[in-house]
Amino acid sequence: MSFQKVLKLSTSAEIPEIGLGTWMSKPHEVENAVEIAVRNGYRHLDLAMIYENQDEVGRALKKVIPSVVKREDLFITSKLWNHSHQPDQVEKELDETLKLLGLDYVDLYLVHWPVAFVPGRGFYPSDDGHQAVLDLETSLVDTWKAMIKLPATGKVRAVGVSNFTMDYIKGIVAATGVKPVVNQVEAHPLLPQLELLEFCRTSGIHITAYSPLGNNLKGKPKLTEHPAVKEVAQKLGATEAQVLVAWGAHTGFSVIPKSVQEDRIISNFKQVELSKEDYEKISAIGHNNHTRFNIPYGYTPMWDISLFDEPEEKNAKY
Ligand code: NDP
Repeated sequence: MSFQKVLKLSTSAEIPEIGLGTWMSKPHEVENAVEIAVRNGYRHLDLAMIYENQDEVGRALKKVIPSVVKREDLFITSKLWNHSHQPDQVEKELDETLKLLGLDYVDLYLVHWPVAFVPGRGFYPSDDGHQAVLDLETSLVDTWKAMIKLPATGKVRAVGVSNFTMDYIKGIVAATGVKPVVNQVEAHPLLPQLELLEFCRTSGIHITAYSPLGNNLKGKPKLTEHPAVKEVAQKLGATEAQVLVAWGAHTGFSVIPKSVQEDRIISNFKQVELSKEDYEKISAIGHNNHTRFNIPYGYTPMWDISLFDEPEEKNAKY
């Protein structure tokens, strides 16, 4: 079992460099995956209400705390879904998450997307099956003001955001004086987020890279099959996924690859070092070829378009 590097957050807490993603699984897969991950050294888990599997994660946690790991040695992130942005809903949704997980607190709680849906109509309120019904009365500042009260409750150690542009971050900080501890965004060689990284670095905001393997969905071009990634993997005797995780870590992100397969969970966690030359070779994949794999449900131009200026797969040529 390998133990791994941790990165310091502005709160002085430490976030393990590699965590387990938990989005998109079949029933029971995540329970098993979380147990395998923790037994094999993972200490960082990335969860969300919208993944609809936090109950499974809770069952896995019961199997490993305290027999395999102490609660305080885990770093658990969860996220507030878009239909609970209303200030009176924020703590309620957190309470629901804690109940599902069987925990007293999470280490990090994020605003999942910078958009509020109308409350009380399920996760995906829609009039026509395609467009989300937005709550235009609730601003990000309203939600952030409710979020920053949470650490005082003892139910979260830190709060942050996800999918936030620089302008969104500047807006909530200007209104409250409180910076998010983390911004979790899609980041991989095809979407390196360098400008955002620089802004966050100078502001003391840590970035966690999601979809570090390029999401690898069926029918989409797979980043793990990119010739440059394959070449470096072969040279290092590593897997393609290890190379992509190493690229994210080398850039300065914490990285949260998802897998529900035991061999991949274990191998994705094994750290590989990239030389400057190999790092640059992988980085070159994204030069003038940016590709975003995640376009959220209900995306409309009423959301900040700058977040989505790289249309899904527009330029994926390989
Ligand atoms: P990833 O880039 O982690 O890719 C996951 C896919 O890659 C799965 O299909 C998985 O299949 C496959 N895979 C895993 N390991 C390997 C390997 N070694 N070789 C080849 N294929 C592999 O995509 P995600 O989009 O899931 O992102 C990771 C995590 O980030 C999510 O699970 C979630 O926790 C978080 N996230 C957050 C978002 C946000 O808005 N904040 C949005 C999207 C993701 P299999 O399971 O079968 O191994």
